[in-house]
Amino acid sequence: MNRRLYCRCTKVRNFNYDQAARKLGCFRRWLEDNISRLPHQKYGSAPVFCECELALIQDMHTVIPVSVLEHAAAVAGERGQPPEPDSVLSLKSIRPAGASRRTRTAS
Ligand SMILES: [Zn+2]
Repeated sequence: MNRRLYCRCTKVRNFNYDQAARKLGCFRRWLEDNISRLPHQKYGSAPVFCECELALIQDMHTVIPVSVLEHAAAVAGERGQPPEPDSVLSLKSIRPAGASRRTRTAS
């Protein structure tokens, strides 16, 4: 299996810790502390991230409160879109492998 199946980059353009932290709007320290759970490339001791890996990290750490999912389902219903009874459940059940439950649900 191609380990970079998710990558859509047509040119090599990688970001180091500082650049990735700036793009994501997070602390470099957070990237360093969580690197073993984040998609990245590693050349020697210098992990780098392509745009696709940053997008995966963004997706992995997006929090969607249940109330937002319910609202989206209600709006879809008002617009007469075909009911998808499992859609809210499906969206709620989406979790990246390895992400903690605590970071995926709003309190
Ligand atoms: Zn890429």
